[in-house]
Amino acid sequence: MNNSVYENTIRKLSSGGIESPRLEARLLIADILKTSADNVGISTQLSQNLEKILEEHIAQRIAGKPLDKIIGRKGFYKFEFEVSQDVLSPRPETEILVEEALKIIKENKFRKVADFGLGSGCILLSLLKEIEDLQGMGIDASKKALKIAQKNAQGLGVEDKCIFLLKSWFDEDFFQALGENFDMIVSNPPYIKTDDIKTLDIGVQKYDPLLALDGGIDGLKDYLQIAKTAPSVLKKGGYILLEVGLGQALDVQKIFEEHGLAHISTLKDYAGIDRVVILRK
Ligand code: GLN
Repeated sequence: MNNSVYENTIRKLSSGGIESPRLEARLLIADILKTSADNVGISTQLSQNLEKILEEHIAQRIAGKPLDKIIGRKGFYKFEFEVSQDVLSPRPETEILVEEALKIIKENKFRKVADFGLGSGCILLSLLKEIEDLQGMGIDASKKALKIAQKNAQGLGVEDKCIFLLKSWFDEDFFQALGENFDMIVSNPPYIKTDDIKTLDIGVQKYDPLLALDGGIDGLKDYLQIAKTAPSVLKKGGYILLEVGLGQALDVQKIFEEHGLAHISTLKDYAGIDRVVILRK
């Protein structure tokens, strides 16, 4: 008797160097059958057509495409977000920013938050889902990213609490377009040095959008521009929470201090790297 689809998939993923072949086999098959991963096992059967699709997905996975970009979904914080090659896949270290933002919003009874560089929406939409009377503005320079974020907002049922704005902070009319003051600004801007992009994992380099990664020659160009624009749309006493790249925390802190903000704290990620810089106006 032939091995089951499930066992064959595990074997292929495993010999292709995938670290968790069992879990990924279940997730890949479940995605194709539109069922949940715990329904998949040795008795699972696929039609010939679906088996062909599975073969393609296995080949993509072994060639380095991230699992979430294949199945189009990624878990982040407490929720699941639709993703595509038009948005940066949510990363676990960004959950630290979300947890800290929630604390600060609750303590200060904040009402309005803007996300500079919304992407999938994982930061802002998690905040809106968790806090009943919070209002959000999600800003992104990519129309395709905003579409994904809008779908995610609908999925979480928070679309009525969020305004979506297609704009770049490098646009001259950026301030006017925002047109209001916020209690908090959150951002995970592009922060990889242009020259370092070619050294990133293939899954990031090829499948995350360059717009969300490339922070210019020193990786700091977006922080500089955000520091020029964000303080003027932040209320007095309002907070800015920024995700930063390896070794950037002090530089980013200084950039924002030069624009009149006070450094409150810097939080480390699970790997012990300074990852979130918190400032107040
Ligand atoms: N954290 C991402 C990475 O390490 C980069 C995200 C960003 O530039 N904001 O690949």
